[in-house]
Amino acid sequence: MNVSIIAVGTELLFGQTLNTNATYLSNKMNLMGFNVLYHFVVGDNEDRLKAVIGRAMKDTDILIFTGGLGPTQDDLTKETVAQVFGVPLDRDEKCLEEIKEFFQSRGRQMAENNYKQADLPRGSVAFHNSVGTAPGFGLEVDGKVAICLPGPPREMKWMFENRAVDFLQKFSHRNMYYKVIRTIGIGESDLETALLPLIDTQDDPTIATYAKEGECTLRVASQRDSIHEAVEAVDQMCSRIENIIGEYIYSTEDKPLNQVVVEKLINRGLTLSSAESCTGGLFASEVTDIPGASAVFGRGLVTYSPEEKVKLLGVSKETLEKYSVVSRETAVEMARGVRTGAGSHISVSVTGVAGPGPSDGFPAGTAYIGYSFQNKEGAVEIRTGRDDRKWNRNYFVLRMFKVINEILDGKMDEKTDRGENE
Ligand code: AMP
Ligand code: MG
Repeated sequence: MNVSIIAVGTELLFGQTLNTNATYLSNKMNLMGFNVLYHFVVGDNEDRLKAVIGRAMKDTDILIFTGGLGPTQDDLTKETVAQVFGVPLDRDEKCLEEIKEFFQSRGRQMAENNYKQADLPRGSVAFHNSVGTAPGFGLEVDGKVAICLPGPPREMKWMFENRAVDFLQKFSHRNMYYKVIRTIGIGESDLETALLPLIDTQDDPTIATYAKEGECTLRVASQRDSIHEAVEAVDQMCSRIENIIGEYIYSTEDKPLNQVVVEKLINRGLTLSSAESCTGGLFASEVTDIPGASAVFGRGLVTYSPEEKVKLLGVSKETLEKYSVVSRETAVEMARGVRTGAGSHISVSVTGVAGPGPSDGFPAGTAYIGYSFQNKEGAVEIRTGRDDRKWNRNYFVLRMFKVINEILDGKMDEKTDRGENE
C-alpha cells in the first residue's frame, strides 16, 4: 500500500527543527513493505493541513502524521484528521486516567487543556503512550488509514514500534529487504554505466546509487511476498554486482571505510601508525573512533610545521628544500619516519594543501599520501581541484584509509608508486 508521511509543526518550516521523524518513518515503513510516496511538512494551520491531507489522499491510502498532538491551541492534527475522515471526537476514559497518572506520578498539576489530549476520533484504536502524555491512534475509514503519532522523536519512535506496527501489520502484504554496498575509487556515473545492464532489466530488486564525498553507495532492495524470497533476490543481485565492480567494493554491509580498515588490522594482528600534516589529526581521530583500535594503533603524530617533520619524523632538510614540503618525497619520508619510530607493521602519512587558498605554489586540494609496509614504500598523489577546506581534509583522510585497505588487500604490491589524479 502507498503511504504519505505528514509532519506537522511550524518549527519545521522555520528550519528550527530537522524533520528526522520522516527519515525514521520512511525507513521503517519501507522495511515493512509499504511504498512511501510523499513526505509533506505543513505548519500548525488547519486549512493548509486539510489541503495537504486532500493531496495525500489522492495517491496514497495510509497517512502517517507526526506532531500537533499536544495540549495547546496550535496542536490541531487530531481535530483536523477527525474532521476530514468525517468522525467526531470522543473522550477516551482510559487515556484520561493514564494522563492523570502521568501527572500524579511526577507530582505535577494537570492543566485543564491536558484533558483534550484524551479525546480520540470515534472508531479509532488508541495508542497508549507510556513515555509521554499524548496518546496517538490508528483510524481506518472507507479504506483510508490515518496514523497519528506525537512530535518528539523519542515518543514517536516508541509509539511507532510498540503500538503502530501491530496496527499496520494487517495492511502490509509485502516484505522488504535491502543491502547497502559501499564503493570507493569509481564515480557515480561510471558506476551506473557499469551496472546499466542490471539496472535496466530489473524492477525488483531495485538498484539505487548515491554519492557522497568521494564515495559511492549502492542500495539493492527487494519487496516480495516472503522475506526469504526478498533476501534471496537481493543476495543474488549483490553477487552479480560484485562480479562487475568487485574491485571497487569495500563493504557489502554498509560499514564505513575506517571501520573496515581497523577491523581488518585487528583481525590480522597488524599495527598501524600515522603522520599527518594538513589533516591535523583527523585520521587518528577516525581510527580511534572504532572500538578496539588500541590493539592496533599506538602512534598518530601531527607534524604541522616543516621543523616538526624534521624533528619528529627525521624528514631531511634537503628533501624539503629540493622537493618542497608538499611532495611525494616528503610524504614517503614522513611515513618511513613514523613507522621506524613506532615500530608498526604499516604506516601512512599525508602532506598537502587543504585550502581555501593555494600554498607554496600548490593549488588547494593537492596532497601526497605516503605509505610504508614490509620493504615497500611510496606515495599517492591527489588533486581534488576543490578549495573547500573541510571537504579536502575529509577526502584526504578517506584516501589514507583507501591506501591502507589496498595494502591489506595485497593491491599495493603490484604498484609500489603510483600517481593518481582525481
Ligand atoms: P508537537 O507534538 O508538535 O508539539 O512537537 C513537539 C516537539 O517535537 C517539537 O517542538 C519538535 O522539537 C519535535 N518534533 C516535532 N515534529 C518533528 C519532526 N517531524 N522531526 C523531528 N522532531 C520533531
Ligand atoms: Mg507542534
